[in-house]
Amino acid sequence: MVVTHNLGFPRIGAKRELKFALESYWKGQSSISELKIQGTALRKTHWNVQSGLDWSPVGDFSFYDQVLDMSLTLGNLPLRARDYHGDPLDNYFRVARGRSAQGTEDHAGCCSGIAAGEMTKWFDTNYHYIVPEFTADTEFKLDATRLLAQLAEAKAQGVHAKPVIIGPVTYLRIGKTKDDSSRLNLLPRLLPVYSELLDTLAAQGVEWVQIDEPALVTELDADWQNAYNLAYHHLKSIRIKLLLATYFGTLQENLYLACNLPVAGLHLDVINARNEIQPLLNLVSSHKIVSLGVINGRNIWKTDLNATLDWLEPLAERLGERLWIAPSCSLLHVPVDLNSEQKLDTEIKSWLAFAVQKLDELRVLATALNQGRAAVANELKANQGALASRRASPRVSNPAVKQALARITPELGQRQNAYPVRAEKQAAFLKLPLYPTTTIGSFPQTAEIRQARSQFKAGEINNTDYQSAMQAEIARCVREQETLGLDVLVHGEAERNDMVEYFGEQLDGYAFSHFGWVQSYGSRCVKPPILFGDIRRPQAMTVEWIKYAQSLTDKPIKGMLTGPVTMLNWSFVRDDQPRSVSCYQLALAIREEVLDLEQAGVRIIQIDEAALREGLPLRRAQWQSYLDWAVESFRIAANGVTDETQIHTHMCYSEFNDIIAAIADMDADVITIETSRSDMELLDVFDHFKYPNQIGPGVYDIHTPNIPTEQHMVELMKKAALRIPAERLWVNPDCGLKTRQWAEVIPALTHMVAAAKTLRAAAV
Ligand code: GLN
Ligand code: ZN
Repeated sequence: MVVTHNLGFPRIGAKRELKFALESYWKGQSSISELKIQGTALRKTHWNVQSGLDWSPVGDFSFYDQVLDMSLTLGNLPLRARDYHGDPLDNYFRVARGRSAQGTEDHAGCCSGIAAGEMTKWFDTNYHYIVPEFTADTEFKLDATRLLAQLAEAKAQGVHAKPVIIGPVTYLRIGKTKDDSSRLNLLPRLLPVYSELLDTLAAQGVEWVQIDEPALVTELDADWQNAYNLAYHHLKSIRIKLLLATYFGTLQENLYLACNLPVAGLHLDVINARNEIQPLLNLVSSHKIVSLGVINGRNIWKTDLNATLDWLEPLAERLGERLWIAPSCSLLHVPVDLNSEQKLDTEIKSWLAFAVQKLDELRVLATALNQGRAAVANELKANQGALASRRASPRVSNPAVKQALARITPELGQRQNAYPVRAEKQAAFLKLPLYPTTTIGSFPQTAEIRQARSQFKAGEINNTDYQSAMQAEIARCVREQETLGLDVLVHGEAERNDMVEYFGEQLDGYAFSHFGWVQSYGSRCVKPPILFGDIRRPQAMTVEWIKYAQSLTDKPIKGMLTGPVTMLNWSFVRDDQPRSVSCYQLALAIREEVLDLEQAGVRIIQIDEAALREGLPLRRAQWQSYLDWAVESFRIAANGVTDETQIHTHMCYSEFNDIIAAIADMDADVITIETSRSDMELLDVFDHFKYPNQIGPGVYDIHTPNIPTEQHMVELMKKAALRIPAERLWVNPDCGLKTRQWAEVIPALTHMVAAAKTLRAAAV
């Protein structure tokens, strides 16, 4: 009999119940016990959904982040968070977000806010975890309270519980030392705490523990490989079975290592590593459980159940009791329940599976393996029907788009002339001062704007009223920017709810869910659009708004678009063609928009690639091939314009060290980046790499409400001018202003414009 299990379930709730409970608690509108009750209710619901499985995860629920949970379990709280007198959950929120709920702070002078833990992406997902902090002196101490409480709850509910923890090597690997010490030095201190934890769980009658070691799919040097051997030999004496879970990629050179670690079972992400099954079976000893992640835990398409059974059946035959099946990774990365969707197009809906549906698929597969396909004939037939409808749908495939793609040549991505020639023509045309000032695109999204947009969407106001509301907002933005004395203006993006959704909604080939939320960090969720078909732009998307803005001023208005790579990386993408193909399709659609803007007289066009870096594959060996098609896609989108048209791009980061050549290769005339918080330190890269074009290193940190002083911005720009010639520097904030208030933006930009003037005066 094949065994079914799940690696983790999304905890946010089908209607984002956890988000709302957290935010209400943080605002001081509900009590900590109400929050805890909501947590209990969600766990109960989620275990119910998983009840047909042989093993359900326990400990995957988190009030903020599973990595921070692990840090607490290991007693690894940052020093600044020790000695807190209140509820441990409040202290946990302090580490996560710098402060706890309103009200818990004020009364205790000794327990006020602290610096929040740093956040970073969990492998190549869009989920952000709180980075564990280490120093040479870090000591660990077990605190199993949370895990034991959830275990008791699960047992009371009759759940076949498999606790989930992060393995010791991955835990060290994803953390940071605050001094220069080596994380691996901490392993000998960490392992006894893991032993104690596993002993504690064993004492509770736990049979299996899932120990997540996704670091095994990354490139490891000999020391880290050795750490795996050390760790798991240390843990092997404990009378509990460990299921070592790897996911998000292939094991490659770590396959031998993973197969030979002394654990009871090994989980392989078969969505990514199908061709490692055979080598794994050859290496792994014959008493080990082999768990195969056969359902995609990162995407929202239905699994081809028959095709999966075709290759799974012989394996089930061969492995018998030793075969477990599961989703490829935790379902944290997909939305909860497709049944919540009432408005989604029924045809498209029939092609999809969210977390709940994925577990149904798992059950169908298990029944087919255990009792024969006839036992689930109806389910298999329905699945086949849905897949056939998707394959044959004219909405998925558009021959004209395929032809356009086939006609792509390298010339399409090339500007007429190299940057120096263009720069001269642009300078003559635009006549901008030294240190020109601009913003990144959006201005504050006021309550009125949001209301006008949602009323229009709900059909409560007509198109004319909506247009005039947006035009009024554009006029306000233009007026304010003229008063401020900015050099290159923007229209303010009032009509955009989200930089990807706005364009996706206007392109053929995109669909939108209502409740397709996925946790990004803490209570924050994103709702990635669903890219399901060939991409076509039926009509211009932004031209009228920009034209209107330009009609109000003699200053140049910068057209504002989202780039193809960012559109791709922030969407659920097709699994029936390579990502690169979808990206090129997006590039052709954006290119049409760029050319339409140029045609309409717009001479500065910004194409945001906020998410270019996020798409980097986990293994460096694969970086170049990603960068090749990503950069080429941007070039196709941007580079059809004449020399006089100035192309800008914006990126929400500035760790360019390792990809600077690719960034330069995009050949944008101007790039604006995020550097303000690092005190321009990240510009070090320009010491070694002579970036040839213009750069706007963000000098105004828009992520805080603080108003930067003129003096501070002048100093930052002076630092930048040490590395990049002043003639090629711009002065701008480090990202869009949509999350800020006008009351903050006006003084901040006043100071910024003053800073530019000071710099100009000093330069002559
Ligand atoms: N143009 C966008 C804005 O200003 C860019 C947002 C971003 O980089 N994330 O809002
Ligand atoms: Zn940004």
